[in-house]
Amino acid sequence: MMAERKSTDRLIDRLPAVRGRYTEAADLSRVTWFKVGGPAEVMFRPVDQDDLAAFLAGKPEGVPVTVLGVGSNLLVRDGGIDGVVIRLGRGFTDITTEGTAVTAGAAALDLNVAIAARAAGIAGLEFLSGIPGLIGGALRMNAGAYGREMTDVTVAATALDASGTLHKLSHADLGFTYRHAAVPAEWIFTGATLQGEAGLADAIQARMDEIQTARAETQPLRTPTGGSTFKNPEGHKAWQLIDAAGCRGLRMGGAQVSELHCNFLINVGGASAADIEALGEEVRRRVFAHSGVTLEWEIKRIGKALPGLHSVGGAA
Ligand SMILES: Cc1cc2nc3c(=O)[nH]c(=O)nc-3n(C[C@H](O)[C@H](O)[C@H](O)COP(=O)(O)OP(=O)(O)OC[C@H]3O[C@@H](n4cnc5c(N)ncnc54)[C@H](O)[C@@H]3O)c2cc1C
Repeated sequence: MMAERKSTDRLIDRLPAVRGRYTEAADLSRVTWFKVGGPAEVMFRPVDQDDLAAFLAGKPEGVPVTVLGVGSNLLVRDGGIDGVVIRLGRGFTDITTEGTAVTAGAAALDLNVAIAARAAGIAGLEFLSGIPGLIGGALRMNAGAYGREMTDVTVAATALDASGTLHKLSHADLGFTYRHAAVPAEWIFTGATLQGEAGLADAIQARMDEIQTARAETQPLRTPTGGSTFKNPEGHKAWQLIDAAGCRGLRMGGAQVSELHCNFLINVGGASAADIEALGEEVRRRVFAHSGVTLEWEIKRIGKALPGLHSVGGAA
């Protein structure tokens, strides 16, 4: 007879008491833009910064912690994520303005920050309306579009370290480089102050409209995707290398290189994370064979692969 599973075997029973919510085996395919990914062992939605700090201070040693935004730059593997996956909720979505500065919680949508800036007559943050993530993800990725990135506008940020201590970071502390912030990987951003300049609401709106139009024309916005798959290598555009290597439209299982923007991989239906990752690796292989350039993943790939789950068939 099988021994009865003791409740103490379960991670959720070893986690500290919090005001927020724990969920076991939370389905991450419902959370990520790609619509793929296995479960989080436990998902934690802290109520506010103090709740998150208390959790970090009280969690048992050695339990891995991963923070997600809205998963617009993420490929969660099919076997899911061990440990605790944190999603920041409503307690981290406040947006306030003062003069030409905007302070936003890490779970504020980039778009909402751009809208709040417009309402306060603050120009220079329009680019955020074209990035479908949250401010925490934008800080981590130094997200940027249409000529601006987070490094151009961020003057301060706050983050909790692995033991729950709050750090106030200046622009220099953030160490921004292309699609990267040099803040320890385990730190969790809780908010940021962005600096714009005085502008007219109509002109700001016109710029946001321009960005929306350009996005709709060039990006597969109606299909599950993870945005730009690879960083642009020095002196090159990733999409041009991918196109030149004949990968536009290339398919593997339910994953495809977008016909519209070939640095985007899309889930055309029923893709596994393994399909998407294998397709990305095949693109890297073909680009290297064609041009000698090694593409570096921009999309963060996290979690465990499912043993035995390989992409369905070869590339076609
Ligand atoms: C259609 C589409 C278009 C896109 N266009 C652009 C674009 O023009 N420019 C661009 O730069 N990106 C673009 N992206 C990619 C993506 O939107 C950005 O990278 C975005 O900033 C990710 O934010 P997120 O909240 O979804 O983070 P996630 O994808 O959930 O996470 C990304 C990384 O940030 C980390 N992270 C998330 N929140 C926090 C936090 N609070 N503290 C610390 N680390 C955190 C995660 O652990 C992970 O490593 C696009 C994506 C899509 C799907």
